[in-house]
Amino acid sequence: MKIGCPKEIKPQEFRVGLTPHAAREAVAHGHEVMVETQAGVGAGFADADYVAAGARIVDTAEEVFAQAEMVVKVKEPQAVERARLRAGQVLFTYLHLAPDPAQTHDLLASGVTAIAYETVTDDRGGLPLLAPMSEVAGRLAPQVGAWTLQKANGGRGVLMGGVPGVLPARVVVIGGGVVGTHAARVAAGMGADVTILDRSLPRLRYLDDIFHGTVKTGYASAGTTAELVAEADMVIGAVLIPGAAAPKLVTRAQLSTMKPGAAIVDVAIDQGGCFETSRATTHQDPIYEVDGILHYCVANMPGAVARTSTLALGNATMPFMLALADKGWKRACAEDRHLLAGLNTHAGKLTYAAVGAALGLPS
Ligand code: NAD
Repeated sequence: MKIGCPKEIKPQEFRVGLTPHAAREAVAHGHEVMVETQAGVGAGFADADYVAAGARIVDTAEEVFAQAEMVVKVKEPQAVERARLRAGQVLFTYLHLAPDPAQTHDLLASGVTAIAYETVTDDRGGLPLLAPMSEVAGRLAPQVGAWTLQKANGGRGVLMGGVPGVLPARVVVIGGGVVGTHAARVAAGMGADVTILDRSLPRLRYLDDIFHGTVKTGYASAGTTAELVAEADMVIGAVLIPGAAAPKLVTRAQLSTMKPGAAIVDVAIDQGGCFETSRATTHQDPIYEVDGILHYCVANMPGAVARTSTLALGNATMPFMLALADKGWKRACAEDRHLLAGLNTHAGKLTYAAVGAALGLPS
């Protein structure tokens, strides 16, 4: 199969859909791989790395879209990219169609077979192509929170691990899923005093078990949350209710109970955020202050570490990408119900019920 990877064109997107490692595997499976020139540069991959892997570099995105039987990307296709898609072609990327009627319309009009990373499933009920980005955002959260706490950024001037004779920072993580677990691990590794709050007792039991006392757990009742937030130097928001906006768990009034200069890192901002005062920010201008509390609310945190994120995403997508290329999408999806769960559009038809329900379209 001819596999094509264009350079991402969404603003501030530095990741790339195919790593040289993935290109090498695809070539070894007998496929032809073409990559737009400079596609990997934001993630630290030169054209020469792809050539060494056996891929062909092409000058323009038009050529990639025109020649590829399968286009592999990171972000949802932008309008100019959607105009290049066609029936019979496979698109494998993040789509997030439910809140995006314009994109859905264009994909249906193109007839493309679109398989969305975010709806591919696994045997444990997880989302294996979303999990790596949650791992990245979770591990990044204490790092950016520690920076936010520095005096020059308006923060409290507290060092995560303290020093001998001075207590460490108190970190509260609300939501103990993928993001929360990784955030707690890194915060504890930095020497902070960490508590994770969740509403799932089985999850709290699991966390208690894996952290061996290095991280404390608490049930996320409104009362416990309010008490711990008031004592915290840093609060990390990491809740998710699948398919719904994040619940607002900390009100504006509660900010006045917090320590001046404390930091909030709202990772759940891509679902609206779990603090009443959260609004999405960018890597260029990540922090703002409300009532003396610093807020970091970047909606695409993994973009800050594009190389790590690209490699992590590539590891997760590679087996599916190879199955699609080796077997063709029909057989690959027929043999793997988890990959089939990723199928969102085909030949002008919406094939994912939740997107149809969200947009009021037949599916
Ligand atoms: P997850 O499903 O693995 O974990 C969510 C956890 O929240 C679960 O353990 C659940 O029990 C818990 N929870 C739900 N309601 C709660 C409540 N009221 N109080 C306490 N806990 C509650 O999800 P995840 O992969 O960890 O993702 C968390 C959030 O981070 C999502 O909104 C996700 O979209 C977001 N995210 C953001 C970025 C970014 O760049 N900002 C990157 C990746 C993920």
